[in-house]
Amino acid sequence: MDPTSGPGPGPSQPDGPSNSSAGKSRSPAATPPLSRYESQKRRDWNTFLQYLKNHKPPLTLSRCSGAHVIEFLKYLDQFGKTKVHVTGCPYFGHPNPPAPCACPLRQAWGSLDALIGRLRAAFEENGGQPESNPFGARAVRIYLREVKDSQAKARGVPYEKKKRKRTSAATTTVEDTPADDGDAGDGGEDGETGGINSTGEVDPVTSTV
Ligand SMILES: [Zn+2]
Repeated sequence: MDPTSGPGPGPSQPDGPSNSSAGKSRSPAATPPLSRYESQKRRDWNTFLQYLKNHKPPLTLSRCSGAHVIEFLKYLDQFGKTKVHVTGCPYFGHPNPPAPCACPLRQAWGSLDALIGRLRAAFEENGGQPESNPFGARAVRIYLREVKDSQAKARGVPYEKKKRKRTSAATTTVEDTPADDGDAGDGGEDGETGGINSTGEVDPVTSTV
């Protein structure tokens, strides 16, 4: 019983995976893993193709225009995670509202912009002509700019690089402190009070005597 049942499933199971994996692993060194950008681009492209497939009326890539791309971006808004306040909302323009509101979640402008960049590249990599690239259409650029402007207003967040504390801190002072960010407050206070106290005490004493 044991010898028959043991060998039976035993060899067959290892055989399957080992054979297939041996077949799949063609020169692992030759094919480097996709970069994060490349794999994201591939995923986005598949999402778009899937969208075309489910489109009603049916839509093919060759008949796809900038208007369809915008339609696709709007469709993606339902999966968005960025709160964009409507003009009537009390938190309109507040980057960090104190309470929840009923405003819709959207795709952040930055993600849409990056997405269009990847799809635009993918379109041409998949044989599309640059002249007829729907992702490069003027209408798409205009739409993105409108989204950017409206989101900037609604959330009160200017889409600019944030000021970096580190650069200003570096110019100000001491080479001892930059490592410990957490203790920066303590160090600063100690330094200030120490300095003020010492000068304050010392000065009167010397002048009186
Ligand atoms: Zn709101």
